[in-house]
Amino acid sequence: MSQQIQNITFDVEKIRKDFPILKRKVNGYPLAYFDNAATSQTPIPVMDAIVDYYSNYNANIHRGVHALSQEATDKYEGARIKIQKHFNAEKAHEIIFTSGTTHGINLVANGFGKFLKKGDEIIVSALEHHSNIVPWQMLCERTGAVLKVIPMDLNGELVYSEFEKLVNEKTKVVFCNHVSNALGTVNPIEKIIKKAHSVGAAVLIDGAQAAPHIKADVQALDADFYVVSAHKMCGPTGVGILYGKEQWLQKLPPYQGGGEMIATVNFEKTTYAGLPHKFEAGTPNICGGIAFGAALDYMNQIGFDQIAEFEHELLLYATKKLKEIEGMKIYGEAAEKTAVISFNIEGLHPYDIGTLLDKMGIAVRTGHHCAQPVMDFFKIPGTVRASFAFYNTFEEIDRLVEGVKKAKMMLQ
Ligand SMILES: *Cc1c(COP(=O)(O)O)cnc(C)c1O
Repeated sequence: MSQQIQNITFDVEKIRKDFPILKRKVNGYPLAYFDNAATSQTPIPVMDAIVDYYSNYNANIHRGVHALSQEATDKYEGARIKIQKHFNAEKAHEIIFTSGTTHGINLVANGFGKFLKKGDEIIVSALEHHSNIVPWQMLCERTGAVLKVIPMDLNGELVYSEFEKLVNEKTKVVFCNHVSNALGTVNPIEKIIKKAHSVGAAVLIDGAQAAPHIKADVQALDADFYVVSAHKMCGPTGVGILYGKEQWLQKLPPYQGGGEMIATVNFEKTTYAGLPHKFEAGTPNICGGIAFGAALDYMNQIGFDQIAEFEHELLLYATKKLKEIEGMKIYGEAAEKTAVISFNIEGLHPYDIGTLLDKMGIAVRTGHHCAQPVMDFFKIPGTVRASFAFYNTFEEIDRLVEGVKKAKMMLQ
């Protein structure tokens, strides 16, 4: 079976030429990279944007009168507008540059303390990444608010009827990922947001795992906050965004103090700058922001519908082939999921499988995937996780399947 038969319009071989790293060898074999849920690879146009920045207009932004500073400012603010358009935010200043998803979540969680009192309730989903649990636990400790959890079922889906029961007039904030990084489940965030809003609670959606596959429309979703990392969608590490509705961002206190985020400073009182600068203290990752814009251009040029369709074919093919292996257990078979397969082979440790696959040039992730509560639910220490991107091929999946079979033979 080849991708040409599967999907005539999607030219994966042409796309692969944009990713030089895919040509390298690992342990004597061509690299088969299936750790895309941890970080994606970087295409040449994004690298070019980085080289162009440092070669031609590296300067600090917003404060300079000189040409380089103005060019850098224009490009950085241009990237903000690209990101605004991509996620369909109403206003550019509703896009706050961050160092990534974790930073965005902490920014909101920290500021939200201002609105919470003892006995208020915060709801998080059972499918959360650690970065989405810890800041809320810290906030609960600080404010006396109580953390409630939306349970999941054996398919890896959230139990929506249980969520409905949790929501009440004490609910102030709901946190949920759009797509689970451990299992790939696409969560019913539209319904969750609507229900939370019926009691006036704010909703923060962790879009880190969704953004590489689904083009979210924050206005249509009516999300109050939406956070992503550039490095999971063909951009560099160390940059991401927090989208927040203007009225929330205005109410939320600043997270860090420093340059860029103030209007006036004296020792009696400092007044904060307007949005987005109130949340962007210090010199930002200028080049990273610009490169994030280039990554969105790159992915949009291929098309998110095309990407999702091709990745879905990869998912179906890999699921079918892997299931033919005796002792195979796949965790999370939600009706709606992105191209992530979390699995174990009966009697074998995921780490051993991952190590042997690496010897064959196949990169997978093993462990708890920063989602220990999900592993506890299944009563396992971890899984092998293969997560696919639009530059993966059916041939690579064949190698993964053969590799797992070989590892199984060697370990049993
Ligand atoms: C990767 C990931 C995060 C953390 O992203 P960072 O870039 O490490 O801050 C949070 N949530 C989900 C669902 C993720 O996949």
